[in-house]
Amino acid sequence: MSLLCRLAFRAFLTFFTLVFFVGPTLAAATEARPIRIGLLAFLDTETMRHQWAPLLKHLANALPDNPLVFVQLDHAALREAVAHQSIDFVITNPGNYVALEMAFGISRIATLDTTQAPSPMRAVGSAVIVRDERQDLKTLTDLVGQRVSAVGDNAFGGFQMAWRELMPLGIDPFTDFKQLDFVGLPMGKVIDAVAQGRADAGIVRACTLESLPPDQRAMLRVLSPRPEVDFPCQTSTRLYPDWPIATLRGTPPALAKAVATALLAMPVTPEGMSWTVPADYQSVHELFRELQTGPYSYLKESTLRAAAVRYWPMVLMLATLLVGWIIYTVRVEYLVQTRTHALRQALDERQAIEGRMRVHQEQIEHLSRLSILGELSGTLAHEINQPLASIGNYAQSLVLRLDNGRLTDAAVREASLEIAGQAERAASILGRIRGFARKRAPVRERCAPADLVRESVHLFSGLLSNRPVIGVDDSAVLNGLVEVDPLQIQQVLLNLLKNGLDAMQHLPDRERRLHITLQRVTQVAGDQLRVAVRDVGRGLAPEAREHLFKPFFTTKRDGLGLGLSICTTIIEAHGGRLSVQTPDDGVGLVFAFTLPLYN
Ligand code: ADP
Repeated sequence: MSLLCRLAFRAFLTFFTLVFFVGPTLAAATEARPIRIGLLAFLDTETMRHQWAPLLKHLANALPDNPLVFVQLDHAALREAVAHQSIDFVITNPGNYVALEMAFGISRIATLDTTQAPSPMRAVGSAVIVRDERQDLKTLTDLVGQRVSAVGDNAFGGFQMAWRELMPLGIDPFTDFKQLDFVGLPMGKVIDAVAQGRADAGIVRACTLESLPPDQRAMLRVLSPRPEVDFPCQTSTRLYPDWPIATLRGTPPALAKAVATALLAMPVTPEGMSWTVPADYQSVHELFRELQTGPYSYLKESTLRAAAVRYWPMVLMLATLLVGWIIYTVRVEYLVQTRTHALRQALDERQAIEGRMRVHQEQIEHLSRLSILGELSGTLAHEINQPLASIGNYAQSLVLRLDNGRLTDAAVREASLEIAGQAERAASILGRIRGFARKRAPVRERCAPADLVRESVHLFSGLLSNRPVIGVDDSAVLNGLVEVDPLQIQQVLLNLLKNGLDAMQHLPDRERRLHITLQRVTQVAGDQLRVAVRDVGRGLAPEAREHLFKPFFTTKRDGLGLGLSICTTIIEAHGGRLSVQTPDDGVGLVFAFTLPLYN
């Protein structure tokens, strides 16, 4: 404590010193040394003096040679007095006694024995008081969230006893109350706070309430009173031993003995107060141990320190693991972020490439269709020429008949019908070609396979002057449909038909034969349509078969070698396969493709 505090304490000590008796010499054993007694003041000075007057009177009578110095001190001042040995005896509450015993080795020589208490061991309790009208406050648990007034965090009856009862209820007064006010001594301050509504509840020493004037007492009530047999007051806590009187380390043993003897010999005062042999204060030690406060506050610290000493390798390991885990998580997060970004970029690029490829594919397919048309259109002029020539002939014959005066209505009708028929034929050839050659994005629609094949044969035949015989066998397909882009499938068929025709160039016209077979093939994955295009041409050399479907493989002088590779791409995009076989009779080739069939 600082010098200033010490000076203040001395002044305080001097101010409150009450010299009661300086009697004549009696007991030789104690010499004429003053008996300096420090008393913990928990009520106002006047009440306390009145309460303790019989004791002082008894001591003065029993030890008349020793002047009696009696001081009333608060917690801090009493501790200071003990620390400086400026007193010889301490009368204090059990909690404060245990604290001073552990700190300064004070030693009890007697315990108060009051007639109100059932025994010196069960003499002190604590009451939690509330205003009687507060019906919402019934048990200690109801204190949560309330404003509570108490004497001080080191006040035994004015706080700590109640704190011990709150602990097993899971209530921490320092955090669970709305407000915890330590108003200090005397205890009347706590009573006033509750009575005047500044606090919802107050913690005071048991029996404080019972000592109030009846009108004041009627306003208040004790919360959760315990059934303590023979105890005259209501208490919210268990009971503890009564106040002891203790000697200090420096108290002369002879003086201690004389005072102890005098106290034990003191008759019961009219207020019912006497002294008995020292009580056991173990229950007070337990309270402090449980609360880890007062003399046992080191436990909190030592528990932490001991845990740190004992578990530091584990703590270190956990901390290392934690740091490692954090670094790992941050790194993983970083990698995930960067890789996701890279992946997204790659996906975007891939989508862009696929988009470009799709456009290219469409362009290639379109070019391929134009190429087929180009190759076949050598004969197109001839094909268109035929209906044009017929139209011309009919028109001329009409003119001749008119000139010769032989033009009959029947002849005009016949010629006109022929002209219209030929014009229609030419228009249908051009219409199909235009449809086939048009440029457009792929579509999917459900079509009858036989219609697709017939349309393709029609288009193919329309382009040729020397048509080969083209047989179509679609009897085995029944009513199945395929979901395809009709233009693309026509393109495949036209390619296969044209390749077949090319392979039969060495044959006389009448021997050139193409045959298309449509079949239903049942597979695990579902029914398939199989379209086989057979020619009777020169077939395929074994070494050519290997490269057949590769782009730019061609054996033709003016060929591009793209037809079969485009056909493969189209068929595979439709979920089918394109393959080649040599027929059983070994003549020509069979190109066959499959497509999923829907019923
Ligand atoms: P191109 O017709 O421009 O050569 P394709 O990819 O359509 O390109 O055909 C590649 C090659 O496959 C042809 O050059 C030919 O040698 C061979 N081929 C295709 N169809 C047949 C067939 N029906 N008979 C024999 N050989 C064929």
